[in-house]
Parts: sequence; structure tokens; C-alpha cells
Amino acid sequence: MSEEILTVENLKKYFVTKQGTVRAVDKVSFSVKQGETCGLVGESGSGKTTIAHTLVGIYEPTEGRALFKGQNISKVFNQRPKALKKEIRIVFQDPGSSLNPRRSIKQILELPLKVHRICNDSDRVERVMELLRMVELPPEDYMYKSPQVIGGGEKQMVAIARALAPNPSFLVLDEPTSALDVSVQAKIINLLMQLQQNLNLTYLFITHDLSLMRNITNRVVIMYLGKISEVAPTVEFFQNPFHPYTKMLLSSIPTVSDEEENFKPKEVISRGEIASPVNVPSGCSFHLRCPQKMEICSRADPTVVEVEADHLVRCHLFSDGRKPT
Ligand code: SF4
Repeated sequence: MSEEILTVENLKKYFVTKQGTVRAVDKVSFSVKQGETCGLVGESGSGKTTIAHTLVGIYEPTEGRALFKGQNISKVFNQRPKALKKEIRIVFQDPGSSLNPRRSIKQILELPLKVHRICNDSDRVERVMELLRMVELPPEDYMYKSPQVIGGGEKQMVAIARALAPNPSFLVLDEPTSALDVSVQAKIINLLMQLQQNLNLTYLFITHDLSLMRNITNRVVIMYLGKISEVAPTVEFFQNPFHPYTKMLLSSIPTVSDEEENFKPKEVISRGEIASPVNVPSGCSFHLRCPQKMEICSRADPTVVEVEADHLVRCHLFSDGRKPT
């Protein structure tokens, strides 16, 4: 079995705003194993992007910590151990806003090579060309272009090449296809899967798209209002979901085979919208929407328990560590 490369322990990230304290991430713990694709899934406002930004050093945690290869990375980027700065890289959702339109693609790819002192001046152009070939963009056609004159899918390929520039071992992929046309989404996913194999990369893949998760991840972590609802190996997750929120999500996704349809939870009535993270409901934060709500749910916050091997859930229905009969 692969060893854990990233461990997140009781991570909290709160933001103080005029409206009150936003509990964007609240006591979240999970781990990612070497070489796997771990999916971090949730609706808008669930805290998944805040976790991504904390892991790459854009935010410092309010409490808790993250360990990468055993070393604490719970610091903003500039204060991290030097050797780890190039190990974890991010690909953002919108390649249009993440690439500087006033730079050529060559200049964009040279920058991380200079920052991380990856190669000397004479080797740098060759490395830029190699990075472009890795993402299937012919260097002679793209090196001197501005990101403004290429398509969305090509921009995301450049963003992936930039992330790969310092030879990272871990990529945080923050909804890397959701801003792209459907016609190029599959191409980007295939490219990412191929790069993972060729370069032995580990991925934390953030999305709200459960159908995509089913096809590309080894494990899934489901978030709701800043907290984890359920963690499970992907196959187990789709065949045997535990949490009422998970069942609600799965009941609404399209299926492509009779087998998938058989496993899909039968219709679960969704009630209401996700609450504001400034005003998180008491007890279980899902209780206002939950079709299986019990008396205890509005006053006590459940803890995460392991119900089956590697299958964890945070719900009072499972509070004794067993499935309800
Ligand atoms: Fe529903 Fe209660 Fe479980 Fe929350 S703890 S998901 S309200 S049954």
C-alpha cells in the first residue's frame, strides 16, 4: 500500500469579515497517498478552495497543520522550508486570469525556473521547450505567443506546464476544467492522467463534479460547510454511500449504464440551500436540509467515525461506528 504523502490535521481557516467570522474550513483532517488522485468535492462555499489555497501557502491556517512528507507546511509560501517550495504546485480554475497577458509563454514558463533556480541561463530555453512538449503544445508554435491569442484549453495546458516547471511531486488541481468548453475538458483530463503516470505525480483534485470524480479518483473527500461529511475509496463511495448529504448529491447525477443506475441512491428529497458559512447552523450543519434528521442533530455536532476500512462518515446515524439497521 502507498504511504501517505500529505496529512492534514484538524485544519481551521477562519476569516473575520464585517458580517462576522467566516468558518471557511473547520477542523478538517484527511490524508493523500503517494501516487493517488484524491478528490475533494463540495458545493460552492464548502471550503474546498480554501483548503487548496492553504496547502499551497496562499493562506496560513488559523489552527491545525498540514504535513508534507513529514514536514510542517502550515506556513505561507515565503516562510516554508526551501526544499518544499517547489514540491507542491497549483493549477487554478481560470487559466485566463492566472497567466499574465503582457508576457510571452516563454517568459511565463521561465519565471518559476528562475525563482526555483532549476537550470542555468543556457539550459532554460531547452527546459521551456521540454515543458511545452510535455503538455502537447509544439514549442515553435507557442513559445513567443501571448496567452491572449490562444484558446482556453491551450491556456490551461500552459498553466499545467508552469506548474510542472520546478519538477513538483504534488499538484493541487483547483477545478482545472470547469472554466473550459466541454469540447476541451476531456483533453485536459487525459493530459493530466498521462502526466501523472509519466511523472509519478500525486493529485488533490478539487471539483463539484461527482461524475468526473468517479472516473479519475482513487478516493474522495466530501465537504459540507467547511467540514468533512464522508471519506471513502471511490468505488466503495459510489456503491455504498453513507452520509445523507452524499446520497443527496449522488441521487442527482446522471448515469451512463444500468450498473451505475442500480447503485445510484433512490430519489432523495433535497431541502433548501447550503447555509452561509458566517451563520453555520447549530449541531450538524446539514440538519436543516437532511431528510433523516433526528432530535439530536440540531443540538450536537457529530464526530467523524470509521465505519468500514478507510470509509469515514460524520453523522449521528453512525455515531457508534456501525451502519444503522
Ligand atoms: Fe442528517 Fe443528523 Fe446525520 Fe446530520 S447528523 S446528516 S442531520 S442524520
